[in-house]
Amino acid sequence: MSNRTFTMIKPDATAAGNTGKIIDKIIEAGFSIKAMKWTKLSLADAQKFYEVHAERPFYGELCEYMSSAPIVAAILEKDNAVESFRKLIGATDPTKAEPGTIRAMFATSIAANAVHGSDSDENAAIEGSFFFAGRELA
Ligand code: UDP
Ligand code: MG
Repeated sequence: MSNRTFTMIKPDATAAGNTGKIIDKIIEAGFSIKAMKWTKLSLADAQKFYEVHAERPFYGELCEYMSSAPIVAAILEKDNAVESFRKLIGATDPTKAEPGTIRAMFATSIAANAVHGSDSDENAAIEGSFFFAGRELA
């Protein structure tokens, strides 16, 4: 069990002005921010990040969407971070997300679902190092 996870605040949420509210929810839930940056993915960046989903039918639209506006990438720390953060964000489909979760509050659709959260310790490490050099962790 690791104490780190990786998140992105997705284009729908940054464009809607929800970045600050989402960061507040993350901090209130007891996560500490180890690294954070505001950036925009190129289409190639999004294709690389979501490579594991390349065979899924929504891959093309997902990559277009993820490169459509800025995102905020962050490495977060808390005990049992991956599982705890998945609970905080709620189900992929916001209509199925528990009330009070970040996706229930801020997502607009199954694609534009406000935030990313890593699904395993291994992927958290891979995704974190996609965005951050060791020097950037505080
Ligand atoms: N996604 C989508 N349609 C779907 C399933 C997923 O557009 O039917 C998008 C959505 O943005 C999701 C991302 O692809 O967050 C990655 O899918 P995954 O199954 O890994 O969901 P997550 O781990 O983000 O909950
Ligand atoms: Mg996933």
